[in-house]
Amino acid sequence: MKNSTETTSIVWFRKDLRIADNPALYQACSQGSVLPVFILDQQTQKNLGQASAWWLDKSLQALNQLLHGKLNIYQGKPEQILSKLAEKYNIKQIYYNTVFEPEVVQQDKLMIEHLAEQDITCTTFQSQLLWLPATTVKSDKTPYKVFTPFYRNGCLQSVPPRKPIATPATLNILLDQDNTTTLEHLHLYDAQIDTKLNPHWSVSPTGAHEKLQIFIEQHLDGYQQNRDFPSMSATSQLSPYLHFGQISPHQIWHAAIASQAPAYEIDAFLRQLGWREFSYNLLYHFPTLPEENFQTKFDNFAWLSDDSLLHAWQQGKTGYPIIDAGMRELITTGYMHNRVRMIVASFLVKNLLIHWHHGRDWFWNTLVDADLANNSASWQWVAGSGVDAAPYFRIFNPVLQGEKFDKDGDYTRTFVPELAALPDKYLHKPWLAPESILKSCNIKLGKDYPKPIVDLDVSRKRALAAYKNL
Ligand code: FAD
Repeated sequence: MKNSTETTSIVWFRKDLRIADNPALYQACSQGSVLPVFILDQQTQKNLGQASAWWLDKSLQALNQLLHGKLNIYQGKPEQILSKLAEKYNIKQIYYNTVFEPEVVQQDKLMIEHLAEQDITCTTFQSQLLWLPATTVKSDKTPYKVFTPFYRNGCLQSVPPRKPIATPATLNILLDQDNTTTLEHLHLYDAQIDTKLNPHWSVSPTGAHEKLQIFIEQHLDGYQQNRDFPSMSATSQLSPYLHFGQISPHQIWHAAIASQAPAYEIDAFLRQLGWREFSYNLLYHFPTLPEENFQTKFDNFAWLSDDSLLHAWQQGKTGYPIIDAGMRELITTGYMHNRVRMIVASFLVKNLLIHWHHGRDWFWNTLVDADLANNSASWQWVAGSGVDAAPYFRIFNPVLQGEKFDKDGDYTRTFVPELAALPDKYLHKPWLAPESILKSCNIKLGKDYPKPIVDLDVSRKRALAAYKNL
């Protein structure tokens, strides 16, 4: 029976699609019953990449199960939907976890004011990030622009990340009986994408915690050394789960520090979570980061426009095996190893001189972890137009990178099977293989595998000249 002091409140799920370590849900449940709500607004739907839409669909299914089939799904403007629901069920409290994306922050501000006029209080919590961007600033109150001082002084010298919060002991959930919108109405599901991506991911908080456990038990000890080698699968692959909040950074942080791995390995891993915090911090303080060059001198950069080169890059048909392996890993799994992301991005913006916006957009559409903060900051970093960016003369050589980070060729052979028979010596530079070897491996360059789409030396010199001219 309902206690007379119990109230019903709305919990608005967004980038926190889990029930454990969910401060908004926990607080709401401690007050009484909850109406759990997910709203897909038009703008978000329009902006979703294909891989993200697929992931979101699965995530909502999983969340719905955790909520005993009582997740209330809506389509439309959050402010209007929440306001109507509050009125209908005489609800005075809405709980949600803050999303640190500039447009969302802006919308939330207006919504809070609007709902306050109806006497409805929005109570917000922090679970997307470990440290608040607004207060993680330099001593002179200006934003950090360099990672190491940001992480060392801004984060590590600040209050340590809080411990994860338990799953609410009781979930007293209300279903909006009149609601006719279902997950199918959101049109997130795409059968073709599903066939491709489904074998690679278990999209749920359980899937996230399994990944975390495997990582902690098998890969954390050795992370610093192995994280750069794509065939070792030595990283956590938690990025898509973090993006949609099926696991929180707090859960990952505390699981890592509670592990038996050596301190330097744990620190190396936590530092990567620190990079995620840095991207969000930049996005918060410089909201134009996804669109505009942070360094305005890049505004007049002489980018080239060549659809056929862009297409070859997107489809993994550049003739450079490590690039093609990465781009095909992306298309087939929705993910790409970080080292390879850096190599393919450098190739696009430096060897092909194609604007980082094109790379950003392709990643946005194809990555299951497509994330406004990380994607924008990383592309600007590689292009050299960002804060604390890679120096302009750092142009990754895909042959040397392949030979260093995929020496045995396991990664390249997995995603570029037509080159599988080539000896290691030529795997990363098939155009140098003698005709007899190519023939014995059944490879005809230009037919079975492309010839290089640009000359490395020429394109490198061209990039250096263009960058020097800035
Ligand atoms: P782990 O090595 O296990 O690291 C743990 C977590 O730390 C990651 O899940 C991620 O949240 C964070 N992290 C790790 N490396 C970075 C980094 N360099 N920058 C920011 N956070 C990091 N990451 C995304 O999450 N979404 C993106 O859209 C995205 N786009 C990228 C685009 C380019 C051009 C490049 C070079 C990198 C991009 N990254 C992006 C960063 C990075 O490649 C991925 O976060 C990482 O590969 C995810 O794999 P993981 O979970 O196994 O990482």
